[in-house]
Amino acid sequence: RIAYVNGRYVAHDQARVSIDDRAFHFADGVYEVAAVLDGRLVDLDGHLDRLERSLRELRIAAPMARRPLTFVMREIVRRNRLRDGLVYLQISRGVARRDHAFPAQAGPSLVMTARPVNLAALEAKAGQGVAVMTMPDIRWGRCDIKTVALLPNVLAKQAAREAGAYEAWLVDAQGHVTEGSSTNAWIVDAEGRVITRSLSNAILPGITRASLMAAARAAGITIVERSFTVAEAKAAREAFITSATAFVTPVVRIDEAAIGNGAAGSVALTLRALYLDHIRRSV
Ligand code: PMP
Repeated sequence: RIAYVNGRYVAHDQARVSIDDRAFHFADGVYEVAAVLDGRLVDLDGHLDRLERSLRELRIAAPMARRPLTFVMREIVRRNRLRDGLVYLQISRGVARRDHAFPAQAGPSLVMTARPVNLAALEAKAGQGVAVMTMPDIRWGRCDIKTVALLPNVLAKQAAREAGAYEAWLVDAQGHVTEGSSTNAWIVDAEGRVITRSLSNAILPGITRASLMAAARAAGITIVERSFTVAEAKAAREAFITSATAFVTPVVRIDEAAIGNGAAGSVALTLRALYLDHIRRSV
């Protein structure tokens, strides 16, 4: 495997960053994960738009313009001979002596890696559906920024896994689901309406969420952006999660409650097929 580190393509195992990198000291950095299907980057414009926004919000300089960045992303796909997989990209504020305030001198660091995924295994997981576990959302007030400061997400995912669940659904002080630890959260009500929380500082604006919304609306499926409670989710006809890694994956259990008849929902599976069709056409 080949990685990219600040201007160089290097063997993944040999790739190194400084111990003075601000991502290491302070999690002072942002990232993106984009899927690769048939050798092509999925929802690339969306990911680059969100990356630029994250950088702007944190006042981190872009290490390079969009065109060359796109070139490096494609080059990482090419050099890894990636057909189906994921590209990970991280930009930190740079390398500087440890001091909380922004460094005057340092320029940003850019790291990129790629790895293959087993599409057949992903497809099997989607067909089966996954369990989620709810827990309090203890994150900060800017969850709309895709930072590498993911400790609450890590702890939530680990707690879910230890309880035999695949994902954690995070719940705000009002009892509403914000999102998953690394996915957006959705339900389908008794009338077949597809519901997901509206965008705010409380959730990451998922690129898969936006892309699925466009595909679903084009197919005449109603999407309602509003908050829902854990109780409403447990009583929903269906539930599912979205991310660049999971695409659309049905949820069949929330805590102890089976969702619907306990099998992957037909609306979720239809949306998954719609989404995959949409991205295969548009990449
Ligand atoms: N919410 C969180 C907290 C995430 O980490 C992710 C995945 N990066 C998502 C939602 C889904 O976003 P996307 O569809 O862009 O992968």
